[in-house]
Amino acid sequence: MSEPTEPNHNQATNATVLVTGAAGYIGSHTCIELMANGFDVIGVDNFDNSEPVVLDRIAELAGRPIQFAELDIRDTEALRKVVSKHSPSAVIHFAGLKAVGESVSHPQKYWSVNVGGTLSLLDAISTSDVSMFVFSSSCTVYGDPAAVPVTETTPVAPISPYGRTKLAAEQAIIDHLSTRDCGGLLLRYFNPVGAHASGRIGEDPVGVPNNLMPFAMQVAVGRRDALSIFGDDYDTADGTCIRDYIHVVDLAQGHVAALKAETDIDSCEIVNLGTGRGSSVLEVVNAASEAVGKPIAHQIVARRDGDAAVIFADTTKAESLLSWSADRTMVDMCRDHWSWQSLNPDGYRTAD
Ligand code: NAD
Ligand code: UDP
Repeated sequence: MSEPTEPNHNQATNATVLVTGAAGYIGSHTCIELMANGFDVIGVDNFDNSEPVVLDRIAELAGRPIQFAELDIRDTEALRKVVSKHSPSAVIHFAGLKAVGESVSHPQKYWSVNVGGTLSLLDAISTSDVSMFVFSSSCTVYGDPAAVPVTETTPVAPISPYGRTKLAAEQAIIDHLSTRDCGGLLLRYFNPVGAHASGRIGEDPVGVPNNLMPFAMQVAVGRRDALSIFGDDYDTADGTCIRDYIHVVDLAQGHVAALKAETDIDSCEIVNLGTGRGSSVLEVVNAASEAVGKPIAHQIVARRDGDAAVIFADTTKAESLLSWSADRTMVDMCRDHWSWQSLNPDGYRTAD
């Protein structure tokens, strides 16, 4: 297993990467990996779903401060100023909204940030020297696939406004990049979980977590009574849904691999980032209970609308195009997620 990369200031590439959503869950882990690999990072975020203290933690773990500008990505002029000042050669675009349920009740907000924000960013870099654009897409664009594992040519059929905004943003990026000399990688993530091995940064959802691992870990730490498992009558071995959980540090390292693969890529490519292995909800709950050292209270409730029974990635393209694969196990994911949760029971809100 590759450890979270230690800072190595001898690897300076002199390349500057603009990271939108840098203070978020995946963005913060990626900033550390980028800086450890010698990239200079200019992060932007409006802290809509993150806390400024994460920037201190990134600096602590990376061994140097992160350059940062607080802005909304829909503010094209503010973005343009950042691009003009820092001259990034690459962009990694994480900033966006990701709650499926909220996207159903507030679709306008999702189209504004996820699609409008992406258009604004594309506009802001249109006359820059950016030569690689990496986008955070999601396996949610596949909807409920007819066959697994899903390849990048599996038909797309998103079933929520969130999924439709990710697909629309992908299409906007493909069209934009076709007009200029800039490569693109549209990375379709599966289910990121876990945290940096230090336990200093991790996922800190606001309010009631929508996702399985954060909810289970909040039960373990005493913030919630019991996990509700959404259905045990699916056509799977134990009746619960199967997903492809990927350690967030593996995912972060996938972005470094994406930038290092730049010279081999002269077009806009879609790439799945997963492990290729499926785990059921009950398997995750059992692994999390092992990591925590006590059972995680849970109950079976009705299915959640819109859940696919089984989805996991075909990882062949990521391996060949990026020379990257995810090697952390479910045990690693649960151990590191628990380390973060137990060291920071209330997330960043009680941070020093
Ligand atoms: P996150 O919410 O932790 O991070 C997103 C960051 O973007 C936050 O820090 C937020 O404050 C910022 N942001 C939101 N709107 C903004 C705006 N208008 N201007 C500037 N900053 C803004 O989410 P994450 O889990 O790190 O996800 C990052 C990206 O990956 C998202 O685009 C998400 O759709 C995608 N993704 C996430 C998952 C997942 O399960 N976490 C799965 C697939 C894809
Ligand atoms: N899940 C669950 N209880 C929860 C949250 C999620 O049983 O409180 C299940 C959900 O039905 C799905 C799996 O866990 O089968 C992963 O859900 P999550 O929301 O984490 O990710 P998704 O795959 O929906 O993006």
